[in-house]
Amino acid sequence: MSEYPNTQLLIAGDWCDGSGNREMPVHNPASGMEIGRVALAEPADLDRALAAADQGFRVWRATSPLTRAKVMRRAADLLRERAEAIARVITLEQGKPIAQSRIEVAVAADTIDWFADEGRRAYGQIIPPRLPGVIQMTMKLPIGPVAAFTPWNFPVTQSVRKIAIALGAGCSMVVKAPEETPASPAALVTAFVDAGLPAGVLNLIYGVPAQISDYLIKSPIIRKISFTGSVEVGKHLASLAGQQMKRCTMELGGHAPVIVTADADIEKAAQTMVMHKFRNAGQVCVSPTRFMIEEAAYDQFTDRFVEISSGLRIGAGIEEDTQLGPLSNSRRLDAIDELIADAVAQGATLRCGGRRVGNEGWFFAPTVLSEVPLSARIMNEEPFGPVAILNRFTSLDDAITEANRLPFGLAAYGWTGSDQAAYRMGAEVETGMMSINHLGLALPETPFGGVKNSGYGSEGGSEAMEAYLDTRFVTRTFA
Ligand code: NAD
Repeated sequence: MSEYPNTQLLIAGDWCDGSGNREMPVHNPASGMEIGRVALAEPADLDRALAAADQGFRVWRATSPLTRAKVMRRAADLLRERAEAIARVITLEQGKPIAQSRIEVAVAADTIDWFADEGRRAYGQIIPPRLPGVIQMTMKLPIGPVAAFTPWNFPVTQSVRKIAIALGAGCSMVVKAPEETPASPAALVTAFVDAGLPAGVLNLIYGVPAQISDYLIKSPIIRKISFTGSVEVGKHLASLAGQQMKRCTMELGGHAPVIVTADADIEKAAQTMVMHKFRNAGQVCVSPTRFMIEEAAYDQFTDRFVEISSGLRIGAGIEEDTQLGPLSNSRRLDAIDELIADAVAQGATLRCGGRRVGNEGWFFAPTVLSEVPLSARIMNEEPFGPVAILNRFTSLDDAITEANRLPFGLAAYGWTGSDQAAYRMGAEVETGMMSINHLGLALPETPFGGVKNSGYGSEGGSEAMEAYLDTRFVTRTFA
């Protein structure tokens, strides 16, 4: 039997094909070859999933947070037991190096543990009354069935950042996971099923994304939307949700600025940022993209960055020593090609890479562009691929102005030896997350989210669960 499974829908506790028997092929990005199939849902299947989530919500909200947490922690332990097999599935369908897939599964298990316990801490308040004998309190109640839409770049952790929060809060769900990388989110969901999650609480579907989101968001059963993906699609889904007065969590694109001052530890900055830039072939919403390096350290940083980038081992993610795997799909290959050609045509210098590697699979060389003009498309559009832009600055004011120029604000990075510069980066860069002199983003217990076009809401930390809870105020007096 192949180690890559075909994927079905999970509706009301049953794994099944779509009622129209439609399916799609799944490809291995390292070879371009078909490795499996995924079942696609029809409107009749969506109706069944919605009914199951409606029923599942009644069961799950009536389950105590302690019991919910026990089921969730069991699912986390099952993930840990199955980590190697699931990591291989991630790499086969998505392309990233196997070591990164192992981390993805481990982080998913930790995220489930954290939100299992957050559910137990969903405290209300007792509010001091104006009159004697009055008790005023707030209760935190699960908002209701959630529709979640998750992307292909981190098929397990992008799904778990929605599933763990919703289940911890006591919500049921219909999750539309990515058709291009369907089997690893299905393995995640299987861990919950095997841990004893009641049927209908978590339903998993695949299909035509626009049809499914339109259908689910309009359904009166769904009370909350969570989406991770591009700004364009996020705005569309938020407007659909707005027409229905439904709350959203939106985790959208970024174009992360990196400010490197001349007094920073340049060697550490270059090494750390190369590995972070090319992680998952740059298909990461918090990927460092627009580097601004202070003039006096520009040549030193740039030369090291290019040297380390050029030495990365490119190969199939399933090989243990691969550092840079293929892009996940051929759309990204074309998009990256076009962005680089445009930048070079506008005067940017190509320092390394800039080309596809081989004819099989969707490999692209680690690419560094320098002296890129602001008018280049890549200075304004999220590249979502293995390309770094290295530009220079002379005053910190200019660097911060450039960091804030774009309508994105997800992640930002700073490298500096100066406390004052570090303070200004933290206070003045318009971003949801700022990491200075180390990599410290995306832990289960810390906030994860953006500002401006990068979306709203958090997918980490104690802020995250609030978006899945209603606050009810109850006041009473003794008769
Ligand atoms: P895309 O915009 O078509 O799709 C992005 C994701 O949204 C996919 O998972 C897709 O299935 C889903 N999607 C698309 N239309 C939808 C709809 N109407 N309803 C519900 N879901 C929908 O593009 P793509 O080629 O897959 O990716 C391109 C861009 O998307 C990237 O360049 C990047 O900017 C962004 N993206 C961001 C993230 C992230 O982590 N924030 C993840 C994946 C893609």
